[in-house]
Amino acid sequence: IYDQIPVELRDAVEDVVLNRTPEGTDALLAIADKYKGDGSVKEAETEEWRGWPVNKRLEHALVKGITTHIVEDTEESRQSFARPIEVIEGPLMSGMNIVGDLFGAGKMFLPQVVKSARVMKQAVAHLIPFIELEKGDKPEAKGKILMATVKGDVHDIGKNIVGVVLGCNGYDIVDLGVMVPAEKILQVAKEQKCDIIGLSGLITPSLDEMVHVAREMQRQDFHLPLMIGGATTSKAHTAVKIEPKYSNDAVIYVTDASRAVGVATQLLSKELKPAFIEKTRLEYIEVRERTANRSARTERLSYPASIAKKPQFDWSTYEPVKPTFTGAKVLDNIDLKVLAEYIDWTPFFISWDLAGKFPRILTDEVVGEAATSLYADAREMLAKLIDEKLISARAVFGFWPANQVREDDIEVYGDDGKPIAKLHHLRQQIIKTDGKPNFSLADFVAPKDSEVTDYVGGFITTAGIGAEEVAKAYQDAGDDYNSIMVKALADRLAEACAEWLHQQVRKDYWGYAKDETLDNEALIKEQYTGIRPAPGYPACPDHTEKSTLFKLLDPEASEMKAGRSGVFLTEHYAMFPAAAVSGWYFAHPQAQYFAVGKIDKDQVQSYTSRKGQELSMTERWLAPNLGYDN
Ligand code: SAH
Repeated sequence: IYDQIPVELRDAVEDVVLNRTPEGTDALLAIADKYKGDGSVKEAETEEWRGWPVNKRLEHALVKGITTHIVEDTEESRQSFARPIEVIEGPLMSGMNIVGDLFGAGKMFLPQVVKSARVMKQAVAHLIPFIELEKGDKPEAKGKILMATVKGDVHDIGKNIVGVVLGCNGYDIVDLGVMVPAEKILQVAKEQKCDIIGLSGLITPSLDEMVHVAREMQRQDFHLPLMIGGATTSKAHTAVKIEPKYSNDAVIYVTDASRAVGVATQLLSKELKPAFIEKTRLEYIEVRERTANRSARTERLSYPASIAKKPQFDWSTYEPVKPTFTGAKVLDNIDLKVLAEYIDWTPFFISWDLAGKFPRILTDEVVGEAATSLYADAREMLAKLIDEKLISARAVFGFWPANQVREDDIEVYGDDGKPIAKLHHLRQQIIKTDGKPNFSLADFVAPKDSEVTDYVGGFITTAGIGAEEVAKAYQDAGDDYNSIMVKALADRLAEACAEWLHQQVRKDYWGYAKDETLDNEALIKEQYTGIRPAPGYPACPDHTEKSTLFKLLDPEASEMKAGRSGVFLTEHYAMFPAAAVSGWYFAHPQAQYFAVGKIDKDQVQSYTSRKGQELSMTERWLAPNLGYDN
């Protein structure tokens, strides 16, 4: 940052670069020694701030996220005050306020805030024994906020980040972790007299679980605000599905971590709360009206009409490539160094709320500095995870003969030709004006009556083995930054593993694209032939189909206990460890990713009877895809 270059150095460099004075070179050489080293500025700065008064040093360490001298500086500050608590209430809080202001103003970004929180935590950890010794009160929190990832869901990066941001803004956080049932959330909220409940979730079944929690809050006569956040949550879902279930207090959708403090502040302020709630209520009424109008307006094809518009492939000339084996195979201890080359970094920055495409994001005018520093830390941690073998990656994958059967199902056969599983798929019912077909994944496998022996594959990959433990160790040591970092990297490696394995499958194990030469960028752009759609994602949004996939690949895996894949499914079909990917393989040259989108009751009924389950069950699991009110 231009402003942060020491003036002396900046002037001297400019004199040379802009040829402003004949003595420029000599002057620059004269001061060069002072600034030598890696980032010269950094070292000069390090020198300089160490000479400042102690409370200014604390503030600087907080804003810059530097932990190096925090314990000695905190101790020095403590000795200058009558009571240890004053260090927290004085210099530490004022430092954190600066952080909060910079963050609020968009001049500081999430990774930096989480680093600042780490400095704060270490300083407070040093002071706590002294505070306890004098039996003093812990610093007064602005309020107590319960945070939980709902039952059936295992994703907690977002929740942890929000917890850290709220924590370093003076809120007391009660973090119940992941897979937390409604009963527990409400029980703890009551026992610990929490002021706000914050729910988080990433997979679509969590949306329904949040509705359940809201309903329970109403039933048990709770009177405190509910905050909703996480990847699949939205203002629309909060307004349409959650808010109507709980009228005792506010239900607020929190877009991202940067909004959490603003929302909490307004919810816990007697003065601000009424207006804030009123404004949100009106906004949500409007969202509900808009949504109602939209679904009333949208017309879709009937299910039979959408089937009639399926893509037409000539199966009589189609010769499927036979995979090199059928059944399933396990690959253990996959080389993480290789996987690291396959990482798609863009989503890594998104998990830290930094938007922009990698590698351009590193030089972005606004977030470039934060992104570069985050990336350097990520690279360092990645090297550590790999070199010290702290986590490991595993995959189970397989292929089976298969045919499409009516309506949009795929029958999977054992080596004896007998059916061993049926995969149920959904079809787009949207009316397309561009003449494009209405897709179902079942289209990409030869129909049974074509008498072509075709194949499907499946995979489960994880790079999360060991990750939870490493992340927890960092968290226990008060280092949320690295705890979140480990989880975010394990997620990346799991996706990279899926990408790498898919390539091995195309070039070798299935072998239908032996001559493929795609670099990582092309892989990320999905330029390969064939697809690996994942249950729960747009082309196959039904999470429950993962149970069929797991029965085929890892039959010993049960709820809460991993089998040979190292992964198990929760009752809501989230994979644990969270750093895992699973999906199907389709090799058809025209196979493509798509989104099923909204579907109508006729298809839901057909799907229900094909799956042999209750209609209410289908409607529950496909709730986000229903194009009608149920
Ligand atoms: N390169 C990205 C991929 C994210 S998508 C990353 O590293 O995060 C995650 C997975 O979803 C992919 O690996 C693929 O298996 C699957 N997928 C992608 N698009 C899909 C779609 N439209 N429907 C179903 N699955 C999809």
